[in-house]
Amino acid sequence: MSIESPFFERDEFTCECGCGFDVADSELLDVLEGLRYEFDKPVIITGGNRCVAHNEKVQKKDNKNYKPLTSKSQHIFGKAVDFKIKDIHEDKVARYLEKEYPNTYGIGRYNGRTHIDVRENKVRWDKR
Ligand SMILES: [Zn+2]
Ligand SMILES: [Zn+2]
Repeated sequence: MSIESPFFERDEFTCECGCGFDVADSELLDVLEGLRYEFDKPVIITGGNRCVAHNEKVQKKDNKNYKPLTSKSQHIFGKAVDFKIKDIHEDKVARYLEKEYPNTYGIGRYNGRTHIDVRENKVRWDKR
């Protein structure tokens, strides 16, 4: 089933491991479309949904001291993406998101990319 977005396709959200976890959260999609209109540049999703097994792999790769099955990543719930915007610095992207959604969502800064998730509470981090 295709999603109703002029800019994004469902397979951009699909878990990379091949399990078929292909939810495209509508609130998350709204945020991404807002970014696309704001910056008027392609929004490139570098990581979307993760099933538990795939998330374990990602967590272990990012953190040598990661303890199995302790991740609270929103990627597991299909509510998060990591992305970059062509030619736009990640600081500019994060600043826009923080201004637009001051009291909610997870916004994380990484080298060359940004994490956004549509959790209800507010969480911010900088992993650079
Ligand atoms: Zn998977
Ligand atoms: Zn992420």
